[in-house]
Amino acid sequence: MTNYPGQVDFLSTDAAVLLVQRIGLTELLRGLVSALEQDFSRWEDFDKTARLAHHTPDGVMELMPVADASHFAFKYVNGHPKNPQLGIPSIMAFGALMRADTGAPILLSELTLTTALRTAATSVMAAKLLARRSSRTMALIGNGSQSEFQALAFVRLLGIQSLRLYDIDAAATDKLIHNLQTQLPGVQIQRCSSAAEAVQGADIVTTVTADKANATIVSRAMVQPGMHLNAVGGDCPGKTELDAAILPDAKVFVEFAPQSRIEGEIQHMPEDFAVTELWQVLRGEQAGRQHEDDITVFDSVGFALEDYTALRYMHALARQHQLLQPLALLPQLDNPKNLFGLLLPPTAQRIDPAPTEAHRHAIPA
Ligand code: NAD
Repeated sequence: MTNYPGQVDFLSTDAAVLLVQRIGLTELLRGLVSALEQDFSRWEDFDKTARLAHHTPDGVMELMPVADASHFAFKYVNGHPKNPQLGIPSIMAFGALMRADTGAPILLSELTLTTALRTAATSVMAAKLLARRSSRTMALIGNGSQSEFQALAFVRLLGIQSLRLYDIDAAATDKLIHNLQTQLPGVQIQRCSSAAEAVQGADIVTTVTADKANATIVSRAMVQPGMHLNAVGGDCPGKTELDAAILPDAKVFVEFAPQSRIEGEIQHMPEDFAVTELWQVLRGEQAGRQHEDDITVFDSVGFALEDYTALRYMHALARQHQLLQPLALLPQLDNPKNLFGLLLPPTAQRIDPAPTEAHRHAIPA
């Protein structure tokens, strides 16, 4: 369907769900990892900035912009850890994609489901570079909204065969086990009674908890040589998950260092603490894991480029599957300078459009 001027494509949550069901979660995640790798590999093409955050006593509301020569994208996202007690998710998001040549919006999209997809895909992109290839066991601490996506992505795309689960809320772990049992037959799922028990024997440790605090979900003593830590939940000033004593003993990898130094686990470290951005490893310009015994940390906070990639990826797929709806977001004007005409009664609205360059050339001198 071709939109008339003034219409933009709308990807609703229902449409995003249908898209995942039609393509299959594994294939969709696989494609998203590949799209992320392509965009992170052309890092210098993007105009990047740390996100704008408005903090309140209960949470944070954030705007995440990024652009390249062809598109501008932004996401709005919040993080309110107490929301589930009110019956609302901790994380809710939407976003938009604009053409850079005219600035015209082309897509308004749900991004709550898409954020979970892109976060899991980004974790896989990092773990492909950083975790030991022999990794088969993952601890998954924090069993809320993001957790199924992380579990499925690591099992289906990285060969994880055993999951060790822990959450302070037993009902969250019940929900995760129920959802995974239907999706991941054959995978060993172990409920643990503490984070320390979950981490025992794990090759990869994913922390995806929500708490507005500098928590110590994983202490230095729990971390064994060779582990890869996929630290997803610490993503705001004063909201971290790892014992800071882990960081000097590890190789730490981030998305965009200026933002991660404000929001990530490395907020505990001096400004000059050495970190490597993922794009540098993807392009072979910096080393990832060098030895089997290295402790690697992906200090994930979520960067706007991941949403840019996800918006463009979901837009293209949703168009192919005819799942976009037209949304009359912008005025439809016969004369682009006559915005006021919208307010006039239909009989008084029409005046001749101002001549365009094309018109002028068509008029004989
Ligand atoms: P959620 O509220 O649905 O789930 C969080 C879970 O963490 C809850 O079940 C809670 O009981 C559990 N939890 C809290 N403290 C814990 C502790 N000390 N030990 C064990 N479990 C604990 O939230 P969600 O949507 O799953 O998001 C989880 C976190 O991931 C949030 O902090 C969010 O900000 C972050 N996040 C990061 C990214 C990124 O790109 N890095 C993207 C999305 C979400």
